[in-house]
Amino acid sequence: MSLRLRLTLWYTSILAVTLLLFGIAFYVFISMKTEAINKEMLERQGKLAVSQIRLIPQWNVFTLPELNDFKSIGVVLQANLTNGTIDKSNNFRGRLPFDPAFSFGKAEKEESWFTTVRQDENNLLIYHIRMESNQQLIGVLQVATEITDNLNFLNNVRTVLTILSLLAVLIAATLGWYLARKVLRPIEHVITAANRIERGTDLGQRIEHIGPNDEIGRLTNTVNGMLARLQATYQELEEAYRAQRRFVSDASHELRTPLTTIRGNVELLEKVWRSEEDKQDMQLTMEAMHDISQEAARMSRLVNDLLALARADAGHQIEHTQVKLKPIIEEVIRKANFLPHQVEWRHGDLQLLENVTVLGSEDYLQQLLFIFIENAFKYTEQGHVQLDILRLGNQVGIRISDTGIGMESEQIPQIFERFYRADTSRGQTSGTGLGLSIAKWIIDEHHGSIEVVSKKNEGSMFIIWLPESYV
Ligand code: ADP
Repeated sequence: MSLRLRLTLWYTSILAVTLLLFGIAFYVFISMKTEAINKEMLERQGKLAVSQIRLIPQWNVFTLPELNDFKSIGVVLQANLTNGTIDKSNNFRGRLPFDPAFSFGKAEKEESWFTTVRQDENNLLIYHIRMESNQQLIGVLQVATEITDNLNFLNNVRTVLTILSLLAVLIAATLGWYLARKVLRPIEHVITAANRIERGTDLGQRIEHIGPNDEIGRLTNTVNGMLARLQATYQELEEAYRAQRRFVSDASHELRTPLTTIRGNVELLEKVWRSEEDKQDMQLTMEAMHDISQEAARMSRLVNDLLALARADAGHQIEHTQVKLKPIIEEVIRKANFLPHQVEWRHGDLQLLENVTVLGSEDYLQQLLFIFIENAFKYTEQGHVQLDILRLGNQVGIRISDTGIGMESEQIPQIFERFYRADTSRGQTSGTGLGLSIAKWIIDEHHGSIEVVSKKNEGSMFIIWLPESYV
């Protein structure tokens, strides 16, 4: 059942019940009121007439009142005496129904009572009152009035009330149906617009609403807000999916190169060892073996890096402890001497690191610094690579600067992307293009930040900022 129909039915039923209750109350009130007026009038007349009964003591007889004195338009009187005599007012010809046995018996017990009877198509209300003299029942006086008109009037009232109520219900139903349509039309509008969006593929569509900020306005805003969130989430998911696909395709591509080299070299070795005359060619064999070992090492580095990033993607979190920075940096400076490098490796004053503690992981911090130092060594052919310590508020900065090949400023934002390698690096230096992506993840995990300044052919400077932790 539609909301419109339900609303209309509700209105109509509530109105119908209200009208019914009102009609019943009104009808009962009117009928009781008219009956009370009639009864009061008959009672007054009857009591007045009965009070006129006079006893003449010396003869021990009573005289009855002149009934004609108490008649009025529509009111007739009839005195029924116990001795069988019947006296009545002269304003009616017939006779009021009277059952002597029953009425005299009743008059012994009750002073007065009412009855309604139907006589010759007429409805009569009769008041019966005991007539007595000297505390002796002498008869029953009947005072009657015709109530046919009253009953007809009440019938008419009933009919009019019923017709008026039905009409009111009909009008209310029609108006309700119309009003419900008017109220629900904006909702229809929202549904149509939502259906259009549901059918289409464009999540950028919005529902238009021109009107006040009522319930419908708020509903439209909510639906639009929901759509905006849906669109944003969908875009994020699409972006993540695209990045994932790019990652898998790049990873496969990177893994293919060393595998091809290894296979080629193995085939070459096989050929060399099969042919009799080349059996002595140790030189070629050594070269092939060397290539295989190099490529295997490269593949193993690549797989390690991929594993680190896959862990990061899976939500792996670095375990944090309070670590003193100075011993870590000293260790890194010492070990860096053993890394292959052609330029001078030097460091500034480490005094600023005295008592500096950060919240993080010793191993990951070392890995982070080696990524930058290895890069600096890799991309610097002349000059030096230097490590310095800086302080800024509660931040401690580890600066690794080199005098190497540097970068174009537009390349800088991309170097933290996975598999990104500047053209100048590709083919000239070994690398996976994953080092800085891992570095970025480690920095994020330590709630730090990175600053990069680089100039083509002049060198690069990376500052890793870490928040100091106070125990
Ligand atoms: P890669 O394995 O290629 O070094 P990274 O993610 O560590 O991968 O670095 C991405 C790219 O950023 C490098 O390929 C290189 O082009 C550039 N880069 C990183 N460090 C330096 C540096 N110190 N000097 C010049 N270029 C650098």
